[in-house]
Amino acid sequence: MKNKSIGKGTCSVWAGEEKSLMQNATQVPVVHSVSFGYKDALQWQQVALGKQKGHIYSRNTNPTVDVFENKICQLENAEKATSASTGMGIIHSTLFSFLVPGQRVVSVKDTYGGTNKIFTEFLPRINVEVILCNTTDHEAIEAEVAKGCDLLYLETPTNPTIKIIDLDRLARAGKKVGAIVVVDNTFATPVNQQPLALGADLVLHSATKFLGGHADAMGGVVCGNKELIDQIYHYREINGATLDPMSAYLLLRGMKTLALRVERQNQSAIEIAKYLDSHPKIEKVFYPGLESHEGHEIAKKQMTGFGGMLSFILKENTFEAVGTVLANLKFAHSAANLGSVETIVGPPATTSHVECSKAEREAMGIPESLIRYSTGIEDIKDLVDDLGNALSKLK
Ligand SMILES: *Cc1c(COP(=O)(O)O)cnc(C)c1O
Repeated sequence: MKNKSIGKGTCSVWAGEEKSLMQNATQVPVVHSVSFGYKDALQWQQVALGKQKGHIYSRNTNPTVDVFENKICQLENAEKATSASTGMGIIHSTLFSFLVPGQRVVSVKDTYGGTNKIFTEFLPRINVEVILCNTTDHEAIEAEVAKGCDLLYLETPTNPTIKIIDLDRLARAGKKVGAIVVVDNTFATPVNQQPLALGADLVLHSATKFLGGHADAMGGVVCGNKELIDQIYHYREINGATLDPMSAYLLLRGMKTLALRVERQNQSAIEIAKYLDSHPKIEKVFYPGLESHEGHEIAKKQMTGFGGMLSFILKENTFEAVGTVLANLKFAHSAANLGSVETIVGPPATTSHVECSKAEREAMGIPESLIRYSTGIEDIKDLVDDLGNALSKLK
């Protein structure tokens, strides 16, 4: 269902929840039932054939999961959405729904670590060629796409150096050769960036991060037109990576405050980026809201907010220095996830790029002292004071 006229805050709260599922309950019930029974065999058959609305078996569809899909669908202004048990579950399902041996994928080097593994390890196994371009080299990406491309896979902003890709420009390149254009919108969220409006065919999320926003449930979701989503749904229904109703409920509950949280995170992140940018113990800050960021102009064009994710490099370029900062932050979890109400910090050396050697990380532009910072919803003064105190412990 498309609903362009209402704001993101209203949409976060109400979308998908317009109709009560049960006994006039104002909140979405968690329907744990594995199956849905029909005394009338004819009706059962109609539902099973998809000719009548209803549910049959919760690996396929479930009322609570439906509401979650409808909410994100409206937030992304899409025709349809389908979900999976994790972000990787939906990324895997999306890629394997369409790709067959002999086809060619173009993507970038800085995609999420798990996605990168699919590109380098699992797709080559089924004889799908994957070309990974330098992330911000738009000319190189366009040139590879022009050579022939069945699926163009993009992610922006990227992890961990927060690079920005011009979605409108590359979606046009993809369209020209008939590629399916897929965008991972996890970092930006639909509040800050709308890839479908910029020309993408599919937009997907690790709902585990900003959508849920409380780091207590995992999930993944993809939105797009009915034809593409039905294909992904069919693949996921059979491979079985289904989102469970309790997680769907937790994600839905978190999503009610999505716009509120993201607006706060946008505001705080820019202040933190500016603070760190002028701090004597900081070498460099990566945040698209800073004018010095190489992707600032593109970000300004395609994002309505610059997001809660940033990263920075310490002048003291050692892993020990990173340890000192993390140990002295009072209001930040040192952990692998991001996008939660709490601030979360982590070095790529222990999170997204743990499998690379130090030399490999340096070659990718990820120094030992890079720290990824996922801004929470704490008071900005406390976050800045906390960072100031932790940085004061460095040499
Ligand atoms: C975390 C993440 C994923 C994977 O999601 P999971 O829910 O952990 O499977 C994919 N893309 C991005 C950008 C992520 O941050």
